[in-house]
Amino acid sequence: MPGICPCGLGRPYADCCGLLHAGAIAETAEALMRSRYSAYVLGDIDYLRATWHADTRPAQIEPGDVAATRWLGLEVRRHAMTGADSAIVEFVARYKVGGAAAVRLHELSQFVREDGRWFYVDGDVHAR
Ligand SMILES: [Zn+2]
Repeated sequence: MPGICPCGLGRPYADCCGLLHAGAIAETAEALMRSRYSAYVLGDIDYLRATWHADTRPAQIEPGDVAATRWLGLEVRRHAMTGADSAIVEFVARYKVGGAAAVRLHELSQFVREDGRWFYVDGDVHAR
């Protein structure tokens, strides 16, 4: 278990995304997004699946793909409510797969809240 949370807020993991990974409810779409980034870092596929909306969740999240990716950092650029129970989060995440050069993933993600819980729906990747 990591000491400092991978999500970039600089708090202890146990007081940050660790709470959400243990079942606490994310207050905002941004908190959910950060906790999903941390779950990618930690290879917590069950959490990724549980927080992915049932309509868009892939049939399989390959553990090998998650394990092969080394995440280098997360920067949340924007978080905005787009309705009573919908929000967007714009972020830049950097990662490496194997010995390849670092990739910069710039994504605008959509989230919805159902029964008080936020879910990741999908995202538009900004080319560049
Ligand atoms: Zn965190």
